Amino acid sequence: MNIVLMGCPGAGKGTQSAKLQQKFDLYHISTGDVLRAEIASGSELGKKIAAIINDGNLVPDELMVSMLEKIVSATDKGIIFDGFPRTVAQAEALDAMMKRLNREITEVVMIDLPESEVVSRISSRRQCKKCGAILHVDLNAPLTACPACGGELYSRADDTPERVKHRLEVYHHDTLPVKNYYQNSGKYVEVNGNQSPEQVFEDISKVLEKVK
Ligand code: AMP
Repeated sequence: MNIVLMGCPGAGKGTQSAKLQQKFDLYHISTGDVLRAEIASGSELGKKIAAIINDGNLVPDELMVSMLEKIVSATDKGIIFDGFPRTVAQAEALDAMMKRLNREITEVVMIDLPESEVVSRISSRRQCKKCGAILHVDLNAPLTACPACGGELYSRADDTPERVKHRLEVYHHDTLPVKNYYQNSGKYVEVNGNQSPEQVFEDISKVLEKVK
């Protein structure tokens, strides 16, 4: 089973991917995490990527596709694609890549979240440097350490309100057309993202139970 998880910034793709990976024994590929790892390595490529991400723009398609192909080819497991494809060109490249590798996308799940929710959701978002957990803190009494592993929590550089606003514009312009690309494929489904993470997980799980 190979799943594409779509949604605007803050929709909960990372949170749901972590849960789905466990439940359905999938290999989780978050292109955002792949890019952040390249930045953390301190490489020249990482420096270029940091400038793009921190401005809230998209990394060029050719680079994304070549990075992704290496990762996909290295696993035989079913995959959950989190944050890819983000453009129609990436969606087309993904189809071509999967065909070459004798695999196919099983289902495309869109986590639908009203945009009015996005900025407030993202401003309370923190990620653990150690275990990668994503959590939402109470802004009146923010946590500083990860409740799961004690690791340091940080806010992503691209999570400021101005950057989020720009990321939403990019989402509209470049990523929403991907929804149209998949909508007629018979593999596209939307779930309501404006619910508790547990409820969203239950809704996605029901969809995936049917197609697995
Ligand atoms: P995410 O962690 O999915 O929110 O991604 C963080 C940032 O990484 C995005 O705002 C983009 O700048 C970049 N990024 C992640 N995935 C892609 C992709 N598939 N194509 C281009 N840029 C990406």
